[in-house]
Amino acid sequence: MHDMDRQQLLDNITKLLERVRACSQKSQFQNSDILVLAVSKTRPAEVVRAAYECGLSHFGENYLQEGLGKIAALRDLPLTWHFIGPIQSNKTRDIAAHFDWVHSVDREKIARRLNDQRPTELPPLQVCLQVNISGEASKSGVPPAQLPALAAAVADLPQLRLRGLMAIPAAAQDPADQRAAFAAVRELAAGLAQRVPGMDTLSMGMSGDLEAAIAEGATVVRVGTAIFGPRDR
Ligand SMILES: *Cc1c(COP(=O)(O)O)cnc(C)c1O
Repeated sequence: MHDMDRQQLLDNITKLLERVRACSQKSQFQNSDILVLAVSKTRPAEVVRAAYECGLSHFGENYLQEGLGKIAALRDLPLTWHFIGPIQSNKTRDIAAHFDWVHSVDREKIARRLNDQRPTELPPLQVCLQVNISGEASKSGVPPAQLPALAAAVADLPQLRLRGLMAIPAAAQDPADQRAAFAAVRELAAGLAQRVPGMDTLSMGMSGDLEAAIAEGATVVRVGTAIFGPRDR
């Protein structure tokens, strides 16, 4: 990596952390320890290493083979890896064996496979359920009406630890529309809290809408572009 790119990365991360801090102070939720999950899809391992040297240690990957390559290449670093992409059944074994978190569980079959395939010498896999909050037919995520049953099933799986919800709302320019979708996610999580104790995570907000997400109580923001620059795929 060139020194200039390294400097740009550090500038981006510094600005982002300041943006997150300022939003969380203004938010009524006052989450002082919002996790910045650096979405490193399409970025090479050396760029992830540079981001670690700039202070980030949680990385999110969407594509299994690409993620596994980086996990292996960066084994010497104390990183936490989050799988955030759609999950097909034939991917669960490697996800369960190599990732620490999964944000994109949206059906019971996948949850059961992850549970059964999580190596017992590892701590439980940390899980968020992805909710299709905007009801888009094309998007992954459990429909809100089916969320309580899925949450109850996942909470009973010993090798999984249900931490909360993840959502990717339909793109909206108006901050009020962005906030409405994130508020709906927060309310769904609150509605589950009695039946499913111990949920503490709202994984919501990306480069373009993290202000709205933090205003509505996000505890994890998943940020790619604002850290690493535009992606070409
Ligand atoms: C790519 C991706 C992100 C990051 O998006 P940016 O707009 O680049 O910040 C966040 N979450 C998921 C699930 C993604 O696939």
